[in-house]
Amino acid sequence: MFELDKIIRANIGRLKPYSSARDEFSGTASVYLDANENPYGSPLSQNYHRYPDPHQLALKKKISTIKGLPEQNIFLGNGSDEAIDILYRIFCNPGVDNAIICPPTYGMYEVSADINDIAIGRVSLLPSFDLDVDRILSSVDEQTKLLFICSPNNPTGNSMHKDDIEFLITKFNGIVVIDEAYINYSRQSSCIQFLTEYPNVVILQTFSKAWGLAGIRLGMAFASAGIIDLMDKVKPPYNISENTQQLALQALDNIEIVNTRIRETVQQRNKLAVDLDTLSIVQKVYPSDANFLLVQVNDAPATYAYLVSKGVIVRDRSRLQLCENCLRITVGTPAENKDLIDHLKTYIA
Ligand SMILES: *Cc1c(COP(=O)(O)O)cnc(C)c1O
Repeated sequence: MFELDKIIRANIGRLKPYSSARDEFSGTASVYLDANENPYGSPLSQNYHRYPDPHQLALKKKISTIKGLPEQNIFLGNGSDEAIDILYRIFCNPGVDNAIICPPTYGMYEVSADINDIAIGRVSLLPSFDLDVDRILSSVDEQTKLLFICSPNNPTGNSMHKDDIEFLITKFNGIVVIDEAYINYSRQSSCIQFLTEYPNVVILQTFSKAWGLAGIRLGMAFASAGIIDLMDKVKPPYNISENTQQLALQALDNIEIVNTRIRETVQQRNKLAVDLDTLSIVQKVYPSDANFLLVQVNDAPATYAYLVSKGVIVRDRSRLQLCENCLRITVGTPAENKDLIDHLKTYIA
């Protein structure tokens, strides 16, 4: 049985959150002398002298409509990376508890664990890059609080089977974190529906990939109201800047542009996969549900160095397990992809 109160850290259960000036007075007034802000404004033409909304209500309202999810189930962070760190701090006692990751996967799960002094259990993906469900469950112990599942997975590009994910949610009494950073490029739909059935699920999405807003740093977490309350309690009060809130609101009004570019990226991904496959140095192009391709070549470090010399930077992932001689290549514009393919053709010659 999953019980939220039982698995959070005792100090977090006792925590009295910071109360900001805007928490203590949230009405409208003509004179605000309560937050030690600068009444003259900044030296810029835009007005940034007031603190931003600590609860990001306008932004959450808009995201709520688009995602079909109540605002109380939405947390916003300074990138998904902030949400990952906060989950460790809510659920894992440093030096005591542990989390499970399934490599090869996104590096931040482990770095964030290391920062928080949380032990990591590594259960490799199967050679097919699917979840090794039995080994994951047999690796769980009393101190296992978090299980990270990345779907579509970085760097392999595949989506995890939804029935595997659901089975793990039902068998594991900790929190299953499903990182959907690349979900907009996936053939498989989001796991958001699991939230209505299961209390131990956290879904991460981000504005950094399909929304094209990596620079504003905005990540989303979707979970039960109880988990979202805890995340809000632990976050720094003003974690999302005024700039970020305003820009994200504008972006959300332009969803058609985003959807058009998603379709374009998916088309380019499929074309790039075909083009790469015809090259003799390419051993294998793995199927991808993301905006990148994992590509096995004859000699990844040499191919990487050659591309750098041509001014084309890809990611050498060949040191990761199950990724021998693999490069991770982000899908670019048609011109960028052509550049890449042209250089690789001359490399063979
Ligand atoms: C890019 C990426 C993110 C995004 O992180 P942000 O902090 O939101 O920019 C999250 N998870 C995975 C697996 C990623 O590849």
